[in-house]
Amino acid sequence: MSTVLIIGAGGVGNVVAHKCAQAKEVFTRICLASRTLDKCEKIQKSISRPIEIAQVDADDPRQTAGLIRSVRPDIVINVALPYQDLAIMDACLETKVNYLDTANYEPPDEARFCYKWQWDYQDRFRAKGIMALLGCGFDPGVTNVFCAHAQKHKFDDIHTIDILDCNAGSHGHPFATNFNPEINIREITQRGKYFENGKWIEIDPMSVHLPFDYPRIGPKESYLLYHEELESLSKNIRGVRRIRFWMTFGQEYLTHLRVLENVGMTRIDPVLYEGREIVPLKFLKAVLPDPGSLGVTYSGKTNIGCLINGIRDGKKRQYYVYNVCDHAECFREVGAQAISYTTGVPAMIGAMMVTTGVWRGTGVFNVEEFDPDPFMEKLSQYGLPWHEQDLDPEKDYFAKIADAFNPLD
Ligand code: NDP
Repeated sequence: MSTVLIIGAGGVGNVVAHKCAQAKEVFTRICLASRTLDKCEKIQKSISRPIEIAQVDADDPRQTAGLIRSVRPDIVINVALPYQDLAIMDACLETKVNYLDTANYEPPDEARFCYKWQWDYQDRFRAKGIMALLGCGFDPGVTNVFCAHAQKHKFDDIHTIDILDCNAGSHGHPFATNFNPEINIREITQRGKYFENGKWIEIDPMSVHLPFDYPRIGPKESYLLYHEELESLSKNIRGVRRIRFWMTFGQEYLTHLRVLENVGMTRIDPVLYEGREIVPLKFLKAVLPDPGSLGVTYSGKTNIGCLINGIRDGKKRQYYVYNVCDHAECFREVGAQAISYTTGVPAMIGAMMVTTGVWRGTGVFNVEEFDPDPFMEKLSQYGLPWHEQDLDPEKDYFAKIADAFNPLD
C-alpha cells in the first residue's frame, strides 16, 4: 500500500501513470503533477482507475515541497526533464521522501550530463534516512540491471560490455525525436566517449559506426556514443576493462540533424530575435512533433540489450541479454510509443522495489547496486520480457571497428 507522486506529464509520464495504475496492489494512490495541468488531465482521462492531478513548477523546490507535503507520497518519480533533478531532490530532502529518476542532471546552459552533481547528495540523503534511485529507465536502468544480472549469474569476471540500442521503428514523420527533442539532440551532438583500461577515450560525434545484426530486426548501422550509464557501470561492475554504448540511426535522421546543426538550430546559447532572446534548440523543440504523439502511426520494434564478454569457470564466455518491444503493441496498451514505454515501465518497477522494501538503503544509488533478480522478474510481468543467449566466445562482432579504428593512433 503506497502513494506515488509522478512529476512530468510527457510521453514517459503517461506510461508511468498507466503502469502504476496497473500495479493496484502496490500503488494504492497516484498523483500526477506537471507544469501544464491540461497534459495531466488528458492522461487522467485515459486511465480507467481514478488518479489525482496537480500543477507544479518543479524548478522551484519550495513549490514541489509544498505539493509533496499535501500529497504525502512514499516516493517521487521524476520524469520531467534532467534540468529539474536537483530541484526535485532538494524538495525530497526537505520533506524526507524517496526519489527516483530516469536521466541524470545536466545544467540548462551546458550540454554536459554527469552523475557528480547527484552523487554529491549522498551524505544528505543518508542523513535524512531516505533513498535516491538514479537512472531507472531502460538505458540507463534496465541495461544496468542486465549488467548486474550478468555479474551475479553469468560471469566470474566481466571484461567488456557493449550496450546496443536499436530503434527500427518508423513513425512516418521526416524528422522527430523519440523523447524530449532538446535532451535527445544535446545528447547525440556531443563528442562520443567510452571507457577502456581505466581511461575515457573521446571521439568525434558519430565518427565510429558498424552494422550490428539485432535479433528480430536484422542488421542496422550502430553509432558509438557517450551515454550516462557508462559512468556508473565503470565504477560498479568489478574489474570491467571496456564499456561502450551504440545506438542506431537512419540516414534520413542523420542528414536532418546535420542540416539543423549546420544552420545553427541546435545551439543552446541564446540569440537575439526581434528584440528578445531565444535559444534555437528550445525553439526547434516547439516546432518538432511531440514525442508523446508519435505512437499513433509508429510501427516496428526496438531492441535494447547488453553484449558482455568475460570468464566463467576458467573459460571465455560471450553473453547477450536484450528486450524487444513493439511500438504498435505499446500504443494499443497505454497509448505510447516504445521508447516512452521502455522508459516508463522500469521507472514504475524501480518505485515498486523501493516502496515495497525489496531494494533498501539510505543514500544515493544506481540500479546496478541492488539485487537484479526481483527487478528482472517484474520486467517480464509488466510488459518487457527479456531474452538471453550464449554466443560463440571467439566471435568478435566489433572486429571491423578494431581494424578500421585505433583511437590511440
Ligand atoms: P517530454 O518532454 O515528453 O515530457 C517532459 C514533461 O516534463 C512535460 O510534461 C513537461 O511539461 C514536464 N516539465 C518540464 N519542465 C517542468 C517543470 N519545470 N516543472 C514541471 N514539469 C515540467 O519528455 P519525455 O517524457 O520524453 O522524457 C521524460 C524524461 O525521461 C526525460 O528526462 C528524458 O531524458 C528521460 N528519458 C529516459 C530514458 C531512459 O531510458 N533512461 C529514455 C527516454 C527518456 P510541459 O508539457 O509543460 O513542457
